[in-house]
Amino acid sequence: MSASLCIKIKKEDNVAVAIKDIKANSRVMDDIVTINDIPQAHKIALCDIPKNGKIIRYGVVLGYAIDPIKKGDWINEKMISLPIMPPIDKMVFGINTIKDLPNPPILTWEGYKNPNGGYGGTRNILGISTTVQCVTGVLNVAVKKMKRELLPKYPNIDDIVPINHAYGCGVAINAPEAKIPIRILQNLAKHPNFGGQLMVVGLGCEKFTVEMLCDKTDITPDNIIILQDKKGFNEMIDALMEMAEKKLNILNKRKREILSLSDLLIGMQCGGSDAFSGITANPSAGYASDMLVKGGATVLFSEVTEVRDGIYLIGERCIDKELGKKLATEMKWYDNYLEKGDVDRSANPTPGNKKGGLSNIIEKAMGSIAKSGTAPIVEVLSPGEIPSKKGLIFAATPASDFVCGTCQLASGIGLQVFITGRGTPYGLAIAPVIKVCSRNEMKEQWSDLIDVNAGSIATGDATIEEIGILIFNEIIDVASGKKKSFSEKYKLYNDLCIFNPAPIT
Ligand code: CA
Repeated sequence: MSASLCIKIKKEDNVAVAIKDIKANSRVMDDIVTINDIPQAHKIALCDIPKNGKIIRYGVVLGYAIDPIKKGDWINEKMISLPIMPPIDKMVFGINTIKDLPNPPILTWEGYKNPNGGYGGTRNILGISTTVQCVTGVLNVAVKKMKRELLPKYPNIDDIVPINHAYGCGVAINAPEAKIPIRILQNLAKHPNFGGQLMVVGLGCEKFTVEMLCDKTDITPDNIIILQDKKGFNEMIDALMEMAEKKLNILNKRKREILSLSDLLIGMQCGGSDAFSGITANPSAGYASDMLVKGGATVLFSEVTEVRDGIYLIGERCIDKELGKKLATEMKWYDNYLEKGDVDRSANPTPGNKKGGLSNIIEKAMGSIAKSGTAPIVEVLSPGEIPSKKGLIFAATPASDFVCGTCQLASGIGLQVFITGRGTPYGLAIAPVIKVCSRNEMKEQWSDLIDVNAGSIATGDATIEEIGILIFNEIIDVASGKKKSFSEKYKLYNDLCIFNPAPIT
């Protein structure tokens, strides 16, 4: 096989992926000559495939040929029909719980301990929670003033971040699914990077009240400002400035200390994936994840619609049946959620995914799951829940980059590893984001946006283990504040996007 032109993953695969654009009439393997031009990352048929014949990549049936496909043909998404979704009630649990994980190069990092316990902070931030969108305008004016007048006086503080969102009023607050946005906002307020300091801004007549956002003991004039209690704009700004200064004084005393990996919680997600994601970037992120878990850290992976087609693989890695039941419940909830909207999991892949050679959701799922490595799954979380266990955790969230990012922040991640094939400048204000790309061309194009390039695995210039160690070291350095990722350096921060499956009124 010509290693420089295409990659076949499993022995039983009848397709390979083009490493670069390949012209028609190119010999890609001993007896395989391309019939047409094959774009980079797209699939080449390695044998004649009859009508309704299986198309196999990762050793998994991606779908069936709609018409006969010739050896050397380009296979694109229009040529493949989607198989039925794997049934949830046939899952088997606990039969693939691998204990033999790679050792991490180090077992410590430098973070901020929190007064209430829990995971360590990776940054020192004044987070300002809000109950409702109505306060955003005033708060943003105040935060601008705080950054200009107060922040320079407190050198140990990284940032001041308002938790602005579209929830809080005009919503069916008692609908059963309202528990999801409410939980997300409650847990965001307690993020480990906020050092246990609570500052909340409410309007006064909203549905989502301060009492619903905060623990009873936290509802004091030291923590809460209600704008309708103030006499005009200037008094609002003065009150916000005064409270912020008190909190900044306390936060400024936080110091980094050496913590064990068991105090570290990180998240993983993909965005703008391509057919290389599953060969290069995701398996190396998975290798880094395995090392973190071996060292005692906690790693979340998410994105329900991107694991749904490989859910049996996730089920096998759940440590016991009890956990498997929670996994099945979350999956069923999501199947119903999509059904209510009259769509299914095929609504997930984007035009960019398809251009990047991902024909359908099954191919995307197989690549996506690779970022979870091989460790056993010890817990399954509903959207925005805080983990109660250490190790690898499936946090059920939508795959949308901003919604997944916000849910994982609510779960308390101190850092997110974001894997991309097509490229996105995505970033989060509450925790740093490290971007890993799947192709050399992506790194060349965006050399000042991509933190780690895994593309050299496809060209045979690096191994999954080598890039995995690079990602691991990058995680430790950025979490410890020794290094900023590009999105943090330029402050490329996406808005928070609260998952609200309940009705808007
Ligand atoms: Ca995503």
